[in-house]
Amino acid sequence: IQSTMQDFPLTVGAILRHGSRVFGRSECVTWTGSGARRATYAQIAENAGRLAAALTRLGVRAGDPVATFCWNHQEHLEAYFGVPGMGAVLHTLNIRLFPDQLAHIIDHAEDRVVLVDDSLLPLLARVAGRVHSVESYIVVGDGDAEPLEKALRDGGRNARVLRYRDLLAAEDPGFAWPQIDERAAASMCYTSGTTGDPKGVVYSHRSTFLHAMAVQSASLVGITEADRVLTIVPMFHVNAWGLPYGAMLSGASLHMPGPFLQPEHLTRFIASERSTVASAVPTIWNGILEYGAAHEIDLSSLRAGTSGGAAAPRAMLERFEERYGLRIIQGWGMTETSPLGGMAFPPPGVEPGTPEDVDWRMKSGRITAGVEMRIVDDAGRELPWDGASVGEIEVRGPWITGAYHRDPAPEKFHDGWLRTGDIGTIDERGFFQITDRAKDVIKSGGEWISSVELENHLMAHPGVLEAAVIGVPDPKWDERPLACVVRRPGSAVTAEELAAFLDGKVARWQVPENWTFLDEIPKTTVGKFDKKPLRAWFRENALQ
Ligand code: ADP
Repeated sequence: IQSTMQDFPLTVGAILRHGSRVFGRSECVTWTGSGARRATYAQIAENAGRLAAALTRLGVRAGDPVATFCWNHQEHLEAYFGVPGMGAVLHTLNIRLFPDQLAHIIDHAEDRVVLVDDSLLPLLARVAGRVHSVESYIVVGDGDAEPLEKALRDGGRNARVLRYRDLLAAEDPGFAWPQIDERAAASMCYTSGTTGDPKGVVYSHRSTFLHAMAVQSASLVGITEADRVLTIVPMFHVNAWGLPYGAMLSGASLHMPGPFLQPEHLTRFIASERSTVASAVPTIWNGILEYGAAHEIDLSSLRAGTSGGAAAPRAMLERFEERYGLRIIQGWGMTETSPLGGMAFPPPGVEPGTPEDVDWRMKSGRITAGVEMRIVDDAGRELPWDGASVGEIEVRGPWITGAYHRDPAPEKFHDGWLRTGDIGTIDERGFFQITDRAKDVIKSGGEWISSVELENHLMAHPGVLEAAVIGVPDPKWDERPLACVVRRPGSAVTAEELAAFLDGKVARWQVPENWTFLDEIPKTTVGKFDKKPLRAWFRENALQ
């Protein structure tokens, strides 16, 4: 017997059709610094169509990469739908990359068009004179384009500089969206290269659709038409964790902060637009906590927060709950996994707000439907799901990459599974805990010390604002942990006090004897603690 079901293509266009018709009144709200700019999903769909028509007129064809160099805002959302909807490939460029990396990525992807915010033109101008494939720049906003034009002249490039607004105004509504194969490329994102050269991951229409279905489900973010989702995570960081597509599919409105990522702006935006859900990396959440400690803030509209990209410190989860009644659920994922692989919702029967509840929320996640996960030892043998056996996490599934763009990297794959480079445990119910990245693991006297666990305990000390722990060479033990600590303003906490604080929380031999106090922990382009400069700093100073 054969299935009688239709072979219906799962595409970004199908997400847009559903969202803009069924939820045509839901809104994308962009923060302007002092107020909000609004567009309904019906208007987003119309503008996405005009953009697709304009790009077609510029000669963009199916499969061509069209990049964005933008903050989170309405026009970026239009590109999220307009570009894949016409069959081209949306390439979200990370606006915080160093010029060399940015130029490398544009060349490597062979971007033909770049949509760029007027406020970011000076940044893009630093590479525009030397990238090869770009034929058109489309400026979002009315700001001065001269820095870009000058860079193009100086570099001898004859790319066109056009205005987003003019291009859309010149097109008629009602673009005829083409039929697209669900396995075709829809968008791409380069890994931020925390642990190596950036690698390109190309999402398909099908993977985007399936991931969006999962995002809106209750086992992941769980959003509906009643929600207003503040997307603090940048749209260049793994498609803003899939929230724009999940929101369009579920009818949840989107709140876009633009360049206003400072806690005072985010909290004003939340208070005035009554966001119900917000998503950000732990450093942003911590910034909101710090700001809230000194200012009156109103987070009462938020019914949930999600945190991902790095381990959420326990103290952060506890303080949000105590002070604001806000439950933050952490999730795990990576560029290669679209990104969501699981969220850490406690199992039934656990009383919210209890220490046990926080214990569960300190897991990195629970394997979500659609993703398969396993842990393997150094020899590639599968380890049991007992919550204790530690190995490398491997994943596979319809929204997990099986390769990298123009970069075979066979060492990243293992019998059809993606090797995540994350080290951790899985328990018998599929809750997993990342203890470290393989590159950050500290091996002392043959035993592993989890930097994540030490950081987490340290950040629970009232005198500590930030803490990052790295391994440093040691003649006796091979490696020992070095704790890099940022004191909270006004605190004079000492290494001895912190060591005493750790005593009893971790095994005594895991307590660092090396300490350093810094003004700030360096951050990656997406706001995670960056251990590379810390290691480099240690090497330089240790050699003296
Ligand atoms: P980059 O690799 O440049 O940091 P990604 O955003 O793809 O860019 O990072 C994915 C990595 O972030 C994961 O492999 C993992 O190490 C880390 N990560 C994501 N979520 C969590 C989490 N909840 N807890 C601990 N680590 C996490």
